[in-house]
Amino acid sequence: MSSSLPRLRPRSQQVPLLCFGTLAVSPLQRSLTPDEGAALLLYAADRGITTLDTAQYYNNYPAISIALRKRPDLAVITKSYAWDRAGAMESIREARVGIGRRYIDAMLLHEQESEHTVRGHWDALTAYRELKASGDLGAVGLSTHRIAGVKAAVRFGMDVVCAIINVDGLGLTDGSRLDMERALMDAREAGLFVIGMKILGGGHLIARRDEAVRYALGLDFLDAIAVGMASEAEIDYNCAMFAGQTPDPEAARISSAAARELMIEEGCVGCGRCAARCGQGAIVMEAGQARAVPELCVRCGYCAAACPYVLIKVV
Ligand code: SF4
Ligand code: SF4
Repeated sequence: MSSSLPRLRPRSQQVPLLCFGTLAVSPLQRSLTPDEGAALLLYAADRGITTLDTAQYYNNYPAISIALRKRPDLAVITKSYAWDRAGAMESIREARVGIGRRYIDAMLLHEQESEHTVRGHWDALTAYRELKASGDLGAVGLSTHRIAGVKAAVRFGMDVVCAIINVDGLGLTDGSRLDMERALMDAREAGLFVIGMKILGGGHLIARRDEAVRYALGLDFLDAIAVGMASEAEIDYNCAMFAGQTPDPEAARISSAAARELMIEEGCVGCGRCAARCGQGAIVMEAGQARAVPELCVRCGYCAAACPYVLIKVV
């Protein structure tokens, strides 16, 4: 990694860096006010979690902005669906204004599938790279649910890749867990900063949580793991696990009870945008209504952002 990334260095410690997946404190998942969200981020920061993973569409920059006023040292990784230069510049403007800081540690092309989708976002990628050269952006990369997405990050010389990885390979749509492990290993060898996400498979692995977390902690090609945390108990549990300590039984109990579920409220007009948006096939349209298929859902919240009537929540 270049010296322009003071807060995103390859890992030097035994376990990957614990990174706060802030989708859990966005309006898409929990109805926290910005002050409540910031309080949770600051609680985590006090326990050593100093890297925040967000996105343009999470709509939680206000909470991050409040947290940054007290902890300007926090690193912010964000993501955007921009595909052209204008969209890229707007995403940067929105992030800067939103978090109240000019410097952004990393900007990722959100939810890339393969080389083809990256080529479709080439103008945005070029704009981000120019900003990086100016010193106002620390790193450029992509996030993906697909092995082909990781390979594209390597092929196009990105700085960062953020990908789904979990003990059962849940949420992977173009290969096995082993395929993803190999792809991420190659990415690390190529010098990318590698972030794992969805280590609990969007909640499906909650009953085997200790096993799932230990599996992820044992992956020596991960520099960081983004974990969604929506309560102090979840923060305490994860801090203990990442520190190699036995979590407080009460924190473990409370946080394991916080399994997330996809809710579609009444009022669906059957437009089908959520189903079209979901790459996991976890929403089907039946009799003009959207219906969730819980066993396929990885609780990424993408469908929530697609619903014009804001009927979908991961709670
Ligand atoms: S249904 Fe929604 S939350 Fe679940 S996997 Fe699909 S897009 Fe993600
Ligand atoms: S996007 Fe919203 S309104 Fe459209 S089908 Fe899905 S839930 Fe219904």
